[in-house]
Amino acid sequence: MRKRLPARIAQGSMARVKLLEPIAPLIDLIYPPRCPLCGEGLAAQGGLCGGCWQELAIPGEPACALCQRPFGEGMPQGTVCAPCLADPPRHDGIAAGTLYNEASRKLVLAFKHGRRIALAPLLARLIAARLPASVVEHGGEWLAVPVPLHRMRLWRRGFNQSALLAREIARASGAEVLVDGLVRCKATPVLGGLGRKARARALSGAIAVNPRRADRLRGARVLLVDDVMTSGATSHACVTALKRAGAEKVVVACFARVLAEALDRAA
Ligand SMILES: [Zn+2]
Ligand SMILES: [Zn+2]
Repeated sequence: MRKRLPARIAQGSMARVKLLEPIAPLIDLIYPPRCPLCGEGLAAQGGLCGGCWQELAIPGEPACALCQRPFGEGMPQGTVCAPCLADPPRHDGIAAGTLYNEASRKLVLAFKHGRRIALAPLLARLIAARLPASVVEHGGEWLAVPVPLHRMRLWRRGFNQSALLAREIARASGAEVLVDGLVRCKATPVLGGLGRKARARALSGAIAVNPRRADRLRGARVLLVDDVMTSGATSHACVTALKRAGAEKVVVACFARVLAEALDRAA
């Protein structure tokens, strides 16, 4: 079986999620469904209440032709945003389930740090709804690869949140999951608060293609799955590693995309 610890642990978490599915009605009986954001009673598990749905910011059209950053009304199709013009991205598009705000932040906190891994299908559904037509129509041709966690962080958290999302997105789109396609070679500090150069330095050499998966990734179409895309530095490091390994296309799929910081980065 697999020798690398990160993949093994991530898959263990997935197996646990799968085990819970048949007993969902029982869980409903013991824990009446509640909105994970505000605690209001719901008819069924796995959703949000009407009020909290409205709090989520779903990115819409018109949007940048390269990165799908939403524009104000009236921009013609094919327009490229200022950050992409200043620094053309290496990825082939960003499918963001939501724009980062208080509601999506709370969901991510509950999912990642509150260990509410049962939120994975809900978050993945929101991401899957934003996938480009090339993925929706030919899902089977894509590989869902999560942003990797360093093994120390994986030990502490017990699961890779991006791997859980990748599994659910693959299920929704027909893509195949390659849970250990990328590896973290060194631990990186929390990037929040670091400037652009410091982030790049911290990430230098930190993320690489798993040598045992190099054959699968050569010429592949990859959905790079992340929970939150903040400055884009981590996903940039992943995309760079995947493209160097010969990936044909890499579309970034994230649950919450932070727009303000991405703008700062280009400034
Ligand atoms: Zn609610
Ligand atoms: Zn753009």
